[in-house]
Amino acid sequence: MLVYAACILSRRVPRGCCRRWCAAPQPLVHIRSASAAEPGTRRSNGEQLWEAVSYIPFSRARLGSFFQEQPVLRNPFLEDALLRGYLRRHLPQEAVISDLCAFGERVANEVDMWGRECEVTPPQLVQFDPWGRRVDHIVTSPAWNRMKDLSAREGLVATGYERSFGEWSRVYQMSKLYIFSPSSGLYTCPLAMTDGAAKVIQSIGAPWPTDEAYSRLTTRQPERFWTSGQWMTERQGGSDVGSGTETVAVVQPDGSYKLHGFKWFTSATDADMTLTLARVRDRTGATTPGSRGLSLFYAEVSRDEDGRLRGIEVQRLKDKLGTDRCQLLSYCWMVCLHTGPLHIYYRNY
Ligand SMILES: Cc1cc2nc3c(=O)[nH]c(=O)nc-3n(C[C@H](O)[C@H](O)[C@H](O)COP(=O)(O)OP(=O)(O)OC[C@H]3O[C@@H](n4cnc5c(N)ncnc54)[C@H](O)[C@@H]3O)c2cc1C
Repeated sequence: MLVYAACILSRRVPRGCCRRWCAAPQPLVHIRSASAAEPGTRRSNGEQLWEAVSYIPFSRARLGSFFQEQPVLRNPFLEDALLRGYLRRHLPQEAVISDLCAFGERVANEVDMWGRECEVTPPQLVQFDPWGRRVDHIVTSPAWNRMKDLSAREGLVATGYERSFGEWSRVYQMSKLYIFSPSSGLYTCPLAMTDGAAKVIQSIGAPWPTDEAYSRLTTRQPERFWTSGQWMTERQGGSDVGSGTETVAVVQPDGSYKLHGFKWFTSATDADMTLTLARVRDRTGATTPGSRGLSLFYAEVSRDEDGRLRGIEVQRLKDKLGTDRCQLLSYCWMVCLHTGPLHIYYRNY
């Protein structure tokens, strides 16, 4: 076998020996370990040649022989001395520490795998059913759906509103989100939208139906838990909503409003509700320009019995920041609100 290998190696090949070596049948034994000669014996030319070649690190495999140890995610709470030290000083309650400990264990052993699944299985937009009807289904991975369940059970939004630890409740909630975030497959994005919407509803103390929405956004019961979108940005820009908002709201006989417009950038695409901006049209059809003309609306995202989105069309999923590598980026859609049974409840502030 050694002679055979040496013969192949010693052949002159017009365009580099690598080419010929790759084309040759591979030896079946591990030759490197067989190249040492017995002490006192004379080694053949072939053996000497092989010994020299065996020192070339990439002579047999393109990957080489060095591999780093695969990193292992351990309990991110127990591994974070700074966070633990901070909490020990400011929020030393046993209930908090043991909950973070248990959650950290879950993140390392279970949730991290879901996060990877979310990232390799980005959402897909199915716009039409096989019979050509518009359905606009956003198909998400089972792991993404498990994240929603987990978020409710672990109180990832609720903790901030239950106020069990007074002014430290937010620190507790953010500590949980902090250890969850790297493994979450960016589920923290819909949670941020949800938390923001809950805070807005709480701040303005809005009556029905937003009180029901508030209780769903802040519940720990997975079957009741809702996530929220925030549909603000339009094509003219994001920060300057005062001049960028073209969406108009038309009052209906029952006092609700229908919104007509085009929203650009909405995270939390599978949200159950949203808060959104529009300009109310008066009886003459006119709207007030600038920030003064803006009103905040609450809308529930629902489907009819055939599974079609009520009053909304999803135009496409969209990559953000010029990359499609993380789920959030493709988890973004443009939405067209148009005439249809979209129930909007209005209050002007
Ligand atoms: C990851 C991600 C997720 C997002 N998710 C959502 C979402 O869920 N819902 C949603 O509605 N939007 C979303 N957006 C859009 C986001 O709200 C906008 O990107 C943001 O509001 C900024 O708007 P812009 O990018 O158009 O920047 P611009 O508004 O063009 O601002 C660019 C710069 O100009 C400044 N500027 C803007 N207007 C003025 C002015 N009139 N006077 C002086 N300075 C000004 C700004 O301060 C900023 O420094 C998302 C964006 C990102 C990147």
